[in-house]
Amino acid sequence: MLRPTSARIPANAAVQTRSAVPCGVLVTPLSPSPPPRSTLAFEASLPPAALASYKSAAATTSTAIPRCTACRAYIGAACNMNARYWACAICSQRNTLPTRYSPILLAPPEALHIVPELSRHLYDLPVENIITPPPTAYIFLVDANGDQPFMDAARKAIRQALLSIQGVSIVGIMLYDHNVTLLDLRAEILRHFSPQDPSLNASHVFPPDQWFRTTNNQTVSKIVSMLAKFRAKEHAQVSAPTKSALGTAVKAALDMIETAQLLAARVLVLAATEPNFGDGAIQHASHPLPDDQQHPPKPLTRFYEQAGVRANLLGAMFDVYISSKTPVHVASLAPLAQISGGRLTMYESGEESLSADVWQHLNDPAVVRGLLRVRTSSCIPVADVYGCGVYQDSEVPEVYRLSCHGHTSTLAVEFRASEESPPANVRFASVQVAFQGVFIEPGSLPQRVLRVQTQSYALTGSGSVIRKEADSNAIATMLFHQAIATADEKSIGAARMLLFDWLANLFFRAAKKAEAGDTPGIDGNLTRYPALQPVPRLIFGLIRSFLFRQEPVDPDSRAALRCIWEDLSPELLAAAAYPRLYSFLNLHEKNNHELPLSSAAVKECGHPIFLLDAFSDVVIFYATSSRKDLQYPPPESSVVMRVRGQCVRDRPVAPKCVVCREGTPKDRWFKSFLIEDPLPGAAAQSFSAFIQGVADAAEGMLQSSKKQ
Ligand SMILES: [Zn+2]
Repeated sequence: MLRPTSARIPANAAVQTRSAVPCGVLVTPLSPSPPPRSTLAFEASLPPAALASYKSAAATTSTAIPRCTACRAYIGAACNMNARYWACAICSQRNTLPTRYSPILLAPPEALHIVPELSRHLYDLPVENIITPPPTAYIFLVDANGDQPFMDAARKAIRQALLSIQGVSIVGIMLYDHNVTLLDLRAEILRHFSPQDPSLNASHVFPPDQWFRTTNNQTVSKIVSMLAKFRAKEHAQVSAPTKSALGTAVKAALDMIETAQLLAARVLVLAATEPNFGDGAIQHASHPLPDDQQHPPKPLTRFYEQAGVRANLLGAMFDVYISSKTPVHVASLAPLAQISGGRLTMYESGEESLSADVWQHLNDPAVVRGLLRVRTSSCIPVADVYGCGVYQDSEVPEVYRLSCHGHTSTLAVEFRASEESPPANVRFASVQVAFQGVFIEPGSLPQRVLRVQTQSYALTGSGSVIRKEADSNAIATMLFHQAIATADEKSIGAARMLLFDWLANLFFRAAKKAEAGDTPGIDGNLTRYPALQPVPRLIFGLIRSFLFRQEPVDPDSRAALRCIWEDLSPELLAAAAYPRLYSFLNLHEKNNHELPLSSAAVKECGHPIFLLDAFSDVVIFYATSSRKDLQYPPPESSVVMRVRGQCVRDRPVAPKCVVCREGTPKDRWFKSFLIEDPLPGAAAQSFSAFIQGVADAAEGMLQSSKKQ
């Protein structure tokens, strides 16, 4: 759940500056818990009465977990304890240990492992709940303006979804165009209401008890047969200008959820057109200016942001799937998905992977109504929290509201090392993340759970030690979030500058000293810091990405990409920024070294087959020199395809898979990822020119520091 940018924490602000490494941790709120240590053999050796008393000491709900009287942090394995007291890992306060734990502390050390809150760095406990929660609702909002392939894909996706949520769930389906149409699942009829009548509240038209049905086999097949009504409009209807009242449908769904007093709901929006009617209609300027490439695309209406905040408070998560042949102004719709903790996925052409994505997203772990609290030792106060849809609570500023889903969904928490070093006897700094929310699992009742993780990190007074123990992917993720924030506050150019300047400063701080026979000066290869060596390419990849590049980018692509990247784990973000390139000696033998993304490297290695993993695209490429005996496309049993299978597994969005040969039109899929090559006529530099520029800037810093 926690991953620091370096295994060592700076003892004070001056050390942090000298290290040039951002100080912070990445938080993965829904990462799987590590399996508990087995205590079965030990338990078997205990007298039954002793075992029963140890087991009864463990907290069964979150309210029974001991908390620090000074800072309210929770107990955990990182705390020192004896039979009477425990010392808080965060603030060192001595607290009285509840007497129920005393026998365990006096027993052999294995006894501790029977009690998760005393022995584990990460533990989950249910939050006490006297009333049985209502089932989770699943609501589908489908754009009735879609063409037949879209309607077919929507029907298939809903059928898939219904199969995975079967059990204790309630379901609602709405179509929207100039009207909002509800499928009345009990009477098996369609009911319409018009967005132009503001007095109509969806929950009055259809009280939730009529609208939602618990799914079982019978209701699933009933709903599936009703889905046959999803037919694209006849040609005569299509020729009229399309009207799309998505906002009205979103509001209707939220009204329903509020009236039904649900604890948790998931709303899936399948959109084919830009909303242009009723609430949330996107109003373009009558004389639109050319796309602003200097700033991230901004919403044209605040409706979806406000709906996102309302959804977050109501425990509703919106996943938005867009498959449109025309622009839909993604930047306006994105806040609905981001703030409510859902995903926004855009399909450029076709919707083949729509039902697979819907299925995967519904089966991912998901949390709504989440509250996140980060407690830290006083030497590393929290400076900022970055991430998709995380925002500060308006009443308690230390608490962040966060709904999220997926094992890999990641936030970045940045620390600002304090000016003063802690007393000499303090050798560790600790971080505790407490995350409480409603966990949704398909087919089961929602459950409120508290998850606590505490980690301690050794302090150091050496910037060089911090660099040596750094984590390059975690650093790139932290910088990515800082760059996104800079682009929002200032401009995309300022974000590129931030990344460039940071790397120049790293080169300057990591410059070789005149010692150990080294030639002093800037070292662009970071030879003394193997852990940091991937960083320059990751930074280069970020600067060249669709989010930050200087060349024009379609605003919808930029906004959609941001929704996905902001949520990625360090490994996936690294693959997205600087794709991994592998070569193969033949169909069954993989070369062990990753290659740089340049056509020269591809040519020089001389291998016939390549596989490029760019997170959202996985490309298999056959070079022209490849021998005629190599089967094309590669057979499923080959190592090439097995490696592709490993890349594709567990991605939050199903990647596009392409197989191509050099010299065919499809080979652009491969060549467009060779980002180290200079682009003729474009502003983009080759990687070597970029590194030279960074090294020159670092040299300038080195010279001016010598003068001082
Ligand atoms: Zn404390």
